[in-house]
Amino acid sequence: MFESLSDKLDGAFKKLAGQATINEINIGIAMRDIKRALLGADVNYKVVKKLVEDVRQKSLGEGVIKSVSPAQMIVKIVSDELTELMGGEQKPLALSSSRLPAVVMVAGLQGSGKTTFAAKLAKRLKKSGRNPLLVAADVYRPAAVDQLKTLGAEVSVPVFSIEEKDAMKVAMQGLEAAKAGAHDVLIVDTAGRLQIDDAMMAEAEALKNALKPDELLFVVDSMMGQEAVNTAKAFNDRLDFDGVVLTKLDGDSRGGAALSIRHVVEKPIKFMSVGEKVDDLDQFYPDRMAQRILGMGDIVSFVEKAQESLDMEATLQMQKKLMKNEFDLNDFFDQLQQLKKMGSMQSLIEMVPGLNKMVPKQDLENLDFKPIEAIISSMTKEEKSRPEIINGSRRQRIALGSGTRVQDVNMLLKQFGEMKKMMRSVSKLSGNGRKITSQN
Ligand code: GDP
Repeated sequence: MFESLSDKLDGAFKKLAGQATINEINIGIAMRDIKRALLGADVNYKVVKKLVEDVRQKSLGEGVIKSVSPAQMIVKIVSDELTELMGGEQKPLALSSSRLPAVVMVAGLQGSGKTTFAAKLAKRLKKSGRNPLLVAADVYRPAAVDQLKTLGAEVSVPVFSIEEKDAMKVAMQGLEAAKAGAHDVLIVDTAGRLQIDDAMMAEAEALKNALKPDELLFVVDSMMGQEAVNTAKAFNDRLDFDGVVLTKLDGDSRGGAALSIRHVVEKPIKFMSVGEKVDDLDQFYPDRMAQRILGMGDIVSFVEKAQESLDMEATLQMQKKLMKNEFDLNDFFDQLQQLKKMGSMQSLIEMVPGLNKMVPKQDLENLDFKPIEAIISSMTKEEKSRPEIINGSRRQRIALGSGTRVQDVNMLLKQFGEMKKMMRSVSKLSGNGRKITSQN
């Protein structure tokens, strides 16, 4: 996710490394690079202009703390600005508890990922103790109803559908079915078209007026870049939706839609979809996303995801070790085992600082951890907890024992070292972040 933008921003920050102070000249150069990086990522021009100007002013302004390096300071300021740009606080789904069922209506272009999202949301709500009903009101695309039924079965949520070409009738009968079946949430999947057209908008508008949804969510494919932003604007002008769901972020290397959409339509991004599987849905946290774009990884999201699927005790210990930088090869090994248990590999790997650089981007889904596991298993207890003692002859023994080559052992140790370094800088950076805020 957003690899190319992250790399370019990283390049801009690197130029500031080693500079003793922030001044007009080095800030000017950094801003030029940041601007290029954002425009190259297909971020809306007006958004870029505003962001660059804000960052420049804050960097040269009063609030700059002398005790942190210019590079750290700028990363912090850019991180804050990106967070703000994407909406600041996380905006949760707001479902009424008094009206039953609460209604979520899902709208967007065909192929944006609406149907998949509806099922993912159903799964999520069910997990949180709700009793949802899905309604297949996409009556034009014949496969849509079957697709929703299949997905519904996968997430164990019932799907209401009838042989009917009138979406309004389907939706209203779905609403009645939800009441009769004591469902407390109704999720209505509506029809999209390949392009914006008046008939689609009119139908969505009529459904909105009839269903009076608690949440009308607009689903959009982030890989469409600025076109996603234009589509969002057109839907919002007509439907005045409540929130945005960004899909296919797993395939988006640029990030233009994620960074521009909130500013352009002034509606929060509530969810992000990061893969085709039913678990590949996350709430959208602007601050975590900003940190991820800046290559700081996303320890918080990672730990949360871990908490959902792992036992709490192990997770808390891992969190403590990450923070205290006491992470050794034993933990690394455990973490690989646990990673395998959790949802989509790609999205998880991206969240762990360092790990995203250690594993090749291609073919992450079929990632083979066996050689890494074999190498670590061939180490002694002491070697695992103190990898620095692994000298040349130990490396040879480990390679022999694990059926790998000495180069593979070297590579693993080098990468593990880099990962630890990265974790240290992440925790330092977040420490500085707090300092800056409290001194301001
Ligand atoms: P709809 O026409 O808007 O209902 O779109 P669908 O839900 O049928 O999704 C269109 C295609 O995009 C399907 O092949 C989905 O599996 C795929 N898809 C949906 N969300 C994501 C996502 O977050 N990442 C990826 N890679 N594919 C997705």
